[in-house]
Amino acid sequence: MTAPPAANAPLPVYEAYAIRYASVTRRAADNFLSRADVHDGPMPMDFYCWLLRGPAGNVLVDTGFSACSARARDRAFTLHPETALARLGLAPGDIDHLVLTHLHYDHAGNVEAYPGAQVHLQDDEMRYATGRYMCFASMRHFFSVDDVQAVVRQVYAGRVRFHDGDAVLAPGLELYRVGGHTQGLQVVRAHTARGWIVLASDALHYTRNFTDNNPFPAIFHLGEMLDGYTRIRTLADSDAHIVPGHDPAVARQYPLADGEAGIYRLDMPPL
Ligand SMILES: [Zn+2]
Ligand SMILES: [Zn+2]
Repeated sequence: MTAPPAANAPLPVYEAYAIRYASVTRRAADNFLSRADVHDGPMPMDFYCWLLRGPAGNVLVDTGFSACSARARDRAFTLHPETALARLGLAPGDIDHLVLTHLHYDHAGNVEAYPGAQVHLQDDEMRYATGRYMCFASMRHFFSVDDVQAVVRQVYAGRVRFHDGDAVLAPGLELYRVGGHTQGLQVVRAHTARGWIVLASDALHYTRNFTDNNPFPAIFHLGEMLDGYTRIRTLADSDAHIVPGHDPAVARQYPLADGEAGIYRLDMPPL
């Protein structure tokens, strides 16, 4: 049992890593709600999950897609998340906390692979993924029922901690429900050696969605999505501290964690 920090104790810092586990080719026009001002051309999409390491332990933020979803959607792993963790000296059993930003197939597969983790999820996201909107093919398209079922099993195993809005997981590690993209999407704010960063996940797929106020066209609530941009800006120390969810710029801008492509240091300034 660790003693609670003193009121004026300095905030702990977390190491922060982006793990790029897949990439696909797309066109720019498919990445923005309003296509009018978009110069069309190739605009690839990267898929990431994120790892934070600090006093709260090893915190995995999202799990990537399952092998089953990869086959069903014709996607391929460029780096399996478990292989990436091994490169950082971690086994799946070493993950203490698993934050699911939302339950889309590319963020919440393989949850059962982390047997020691407490899972963190917003009430609204479970409500969304198991409720009336999943009657519509256009909304359930982004989910895998097997992944959702696996998360429900975690609930019944007593391993899920639900959050209703904002939450402090530990000093320097916070969750904020922003919704928008899905009903219960949450972003993660972490205190690092370079200050507060925000892992925005699909609150903003690409930095340009945010800077142009032109969201990625997978939306539950457009107003919350746009309010989310403002909220995220207040949470991060600067725009350079906001980490978009699917932007290949992350892999270009941040230092390699171990000299090889695929894992990037977000707690170091962008290059
Ligand atoms: Zn999503
Ligand atoms: Zn996504």
